[in-house]
Amino acid sequence: MHEMSLAYSIVEILLEETQNQEESIKEVYLKASSLHQIVPESLIFYYDIIKKDYEKLKDSVLIIEKEEIKVRCRNCGKTYYVENLFFLCEDCQSGVDIIEGNELYIDKIIV
Ligand SMILES: [Zn+2]
Repeated sequence: MHEMSLAYSIVEILLEETQNQEESIKEVYLKASSLHQIVPESLIFYYDIIKKDYEKLKDSVLIIEKEEIKVRCRNCGKTYYVENLFFLCEDCQSGVDIIEGNELYIDKIIV
């Protein structure tokens, strides 16, 4: 369900971003980290269904790129990348803040 509504939002953004151009879109790069809990296969599945209704998008491919999550320890200030979010500092076991990887965005559109 999450993936389906996300696929609709992506299509909406793409149409808006390309409203002044005639060329069809070939590739769409989406950046997402594990924080978004997206199942890539599922998102691509829905995207491929929705895109068929749009001339400009029907031959496009959605490519999901994994973004790393960067966190900073609230206590010792250490910053490091994590694959899956673990909320305690690897050095001092204090809480961490997410400083990168929180966003979900379209990185590139290739026409
Ligand atoms: Zn720490």
